[in-house]
Amino acid sequence: MEEQLSLKEKEQAEQAMIQQAFNELLDDYLHTKHRKRVEIITKAFNFANQAHRGIKRRSGEPYIMHPIAVAKIVCNEIGLGSTSICAALLHDVVEDTDYTVEDIENIFGHKIAQIVDGLTKISGGIFGDKASAQAENFKKLLLTMSDDIRVILIKIADRLHNMRTLGSMLPNKQYKIAGETLYIYAPLAHRLGLNKIKTELENLSFKYEHPEEYKAIEDKLKATAAERDKVFQEFTAPIRVELDKMGLKYHILARVKSIYSIWNKIQTKHVPFEEIYDILAVRIIFTPRNMDEELNDCFDIYVAISKIYKPHPDRLRDWVSHPKSNGYQALHVTLMANNGQWIEVQIRSQRMDDVAEQGFAAHWKYKEGGGSEDEGELEKWLHTIKEILDDPQPDAIDFLDNIKLGLFASEIFVFTPKGDLKTLPQNATALDFAFSLHTDIGCHCIGAKVNHKLVPMSHKLQSGDQVEILTSKSQRVQPEWESFVTTAKARVKIAAILRKEAKAYQKKGEETLAEFFKAEGIRPDEAAVNKLRCLHNFHTSDELLIAIGNGKLVLGEADKNAFKEKQGKSWKKLLTFSFGSGKDNNEKDGTASDDQSPSPSTEKINPKQILKLTEETISKDYVMADCCHPIPGDDVLGYIDENNRVIIHKRQCPVAAKLKSSYGNRIIATQWDTHKELSFLVTIYIKGIDAVGLLNEVTQVISRQLNVNIRKLDIETTDGIFEGRIQLYVHDVDDVRTICNNLKQIQNIKQVTRIED
Ligand code: MN
Repeated sequence: MEEQLSLKEKEQAEQAMIQQAFNELLDDYLHTKHRKRVEIITKAFNFANQAHRGIKRRSGEPYIMHPIAVAKIVCNEIGLGSTSICAALLHDVVEDTDYTVEDIENIFGHKIAQIVDGLTKISGGIFGDKASAQAENFKKLLLTMSDDIRVILIKIADRLHNMRTLGSMLPNKQYKIAGETLYIYAPLAHRLGLNKIKTELENLSFKYEHPEEYKAIEDKLKATAAERDKVFQEFTAPIRVELDKMGLKYHILARVKSIYSIWNKIQTKHVPFEEIYDILAVRIIFTPRNMDEELNDCFDIYVAISKIYKPHPDRLRDWVSHPKSNGYQALHVTLMANNGQWIEVQIRSQRMDDVAEQGFAAHWKYKEGGGSEDEGELEKWLHTIKEILDDPQPDAIDFLDNIKLGLFASEIFVFTPKGDLKTLPQNATALDFAFSLHTDIGCHCIGAKVNHKLVPMSHKLQSGDQVEILTSKSQRVQPEWESFVTTAKARVKIAAILRKEAKAYQKKGEETLAEFFKAEGIRPDEAAVNKLRCLHNFHTSDELLIAIGNGKLVLGEADKNAFKEKQGKSWKKLLTFSFGSGKDNNEKDGTASDDQSPSPSTEKINPKQILKLTEETISKDYVMADCCHPIPGDDVLGYIDENNRVIIHKRQCPVAAKLKSSYGNRIIATQWDTHKELSFLVTIYIKGIDAVGLLNEVTQVISRQLNVNIRKLDIETTDGIFEGRIQLYVHDVDDVRTICNNLKQIQNIKQVTRIED
C-alpha cells in the first residue's frame, strides 16, 4: 500500500516537473514578437506528453522532457514561431509511438504534419542502423530541408539537445554522435548562420572526444580570465568615450575564442596556448540612429576608433557591404592596443548581431508582417543542392564529400563583366565560375579574361576579380577538367557529361568493331576483343571500345594481320590470358572487392564493450592506422572493418571523422592497457636559436639521458633559426611528454611539439 502510494507520488512529482518545463517554454514564447498562438502549442504539448507517457530517456528522465527542451531551443536560440515549436514538441511522436503522420495532420493541419514527417524521415537516417545508408540519408535530409528549411533547423535543435545530454550514452555511441556532429551538423549550422549553436556543437563534440585536453584549455582560460578582463577594460575605455561623443546607443562585449577553436589552432599552427594572441576579441553592438544609416554608422565607428588605435592595414574585413552567403554582416578591424597586442574589433548593429547569432531565422524577425520565408542567398544555395540531387549519378559518399567541401570552404566574391556579384568557394577557378553561370557556358569554356587579362580556365580566382568567360561552340568537356574545378556543382556536371559521352563512344565503338570483325571474317567473341585490347595496351575492353568510338584508335592492317596468325595455336594462350586479365580489371576499377580470402576469424566483436588495448592484442588483433599513427595514451577509438579487424585511429584523425559519420555502427570504444613493452614511432618538432653544440645536446638528452632510439633526424637552419624533426621510438604519450619537457630545458630551444599527423 505504502509502495503504491509513493509510486503515485513519484508520478505526480514527475508530471509537475513536466508541467513546469512546459510553462517555461510558453513563457519564453510569449516574450517573443511572434503571434500568440498559445492554444495550438498547448495542444501539441498535451498530445506529445500523452503519447510518450511512461517512456524514459537513458538518463532516467521522462521522455517528453526532450521534445520540450528541443522546442525551447527552437524558440529561444533559433527564434522560430509556433509552427516550429509545435513540430519540435511532436518531432519524435511518429518515430517512437503508434501515431501516424495522418493523425498529426488531422489534429494539427498540413504544415505541422509535413515538418514532423520530414523530421521522422531523417531521424532514422544519420543515426540509422544500416551503416552504408547513412550518407544516402544525408541526401534525404537535404532534400527534405529544401521543402521546408524549418525541418533542418529543428533537426539541429534536436541534435544540440542530444549533445547537451550525451553523457548518459554508451561511449561508442558518444563517439559516433560526436563525430557526426562535427562532420555534418556543425558545418550545417555554420552554413545556416547559427554561429552560437555551431560553436556549442563543436565544443561539446570536442569535450567528449578529448575530455582531458578540453579540461586543460578550460582551466587555462579560467586562469587567464582576470588578465584578459584588465586588457579589455583598458582597451575599451577610450573607445567608449568616442562612441559616447557620437551619441550612439551601444554595448561592448568581450568575445573569448571557443575552446574548440583554441585547440584547433594549437593543432594546426603548432603553437602552445600561451602563444595564441587572438583569444580575446571585442564586439561593438550598436543601435543605428535610423535604419537607413546602419551601414554608414559601421564605417563611422571604424573611423572613430582608428583614430585611437592603429589599424592593421591588411585586416579590414568588410562583411557589411558584401554579406557572407550565410547572411553574416559585420565590419572586422584589427587594432593595436597600447601593450602592442593586435586585437580584433567586430562592429555590428543589433540587427546584424541577431543575424550572426541566430542565422536566417533572425531575418524573419526584421521582416514586416513576420513569418514569411526568406528568399535570397539561402534559396540560391538550396537550389544548387537540388541541382546536384537531381543528377542521380554520383555515389553517396562522394556526394557527402562534395557537400562537405562546399560547407567548409570560405567564400570569395567575383564580378561578372556587367558588375553582378557572384559568391564562389575559395580556390574556385575560372571554369568553376563558368559552370556557376550556366552548364552550357561551362561545357564550351575555352578560357577566360580575368581583369581583362587572358588566363587559362584552370586559373584560380581571387576575391574582387572581374571575370569574363570565353566560349567556343566546338569546345567539348575534357577528362582533365575534373582537376580544374573545386565546386561540387561543376565537378558533378563534368563527371556526368563525361560518363554520358563515354557511353555513347563505347556504343559507337562496339558497332565499328562489329563491322570490322564481320568484314574480316573473325569470330566476334571475347578472345578477339582481348587480342585487340592487348595489342593496343588498354587495361579494359571498355577503354578499347571508347578509343575506337571517339576515333582515337583506327583499326588497320596491323590489326587484320594479328588475326591471320595460326589460330589453333594461340587459342589456348588467349583464353588463359583473358581469364587472368579479367581479374586484373576488377582490381583496377576498385569495385568492392568480392575477394573472399579467408579473413582472420576473430570472434564477433561486440561494439557495446570497451576494447582493452593490451600488448598482446595490439600486435595480434588490432591494426594501428597508417594515417594518424596512434600511440598508447592518445585518445583513440576502434573501427571494425569488413574483415572484422579492428583499426585503431586517433579520435581527431580526419579519416576517423569520416568513418564516424559514415559507419558509426562499426565504431568501438577503446582503452589503452599497455605496460611500456612495445615501441611506437613518433615525430617531434623542435625550433630554436642555432648555437654551437645544440644538436649534440639534443641527441644527448634523447639517447643518453632517456635511452630512446632515434630513427631519423632532420635539421635545417635558416638565418640563425634552427628547425628539426626527430623521429624516435617511444612506448607511450608519457614518454613523449618527458622527452618534450627535457628538450624544453635546453637553453636555446624555444618550441617543442609532437607532430600529430
Ligand atoms: Mn529527438
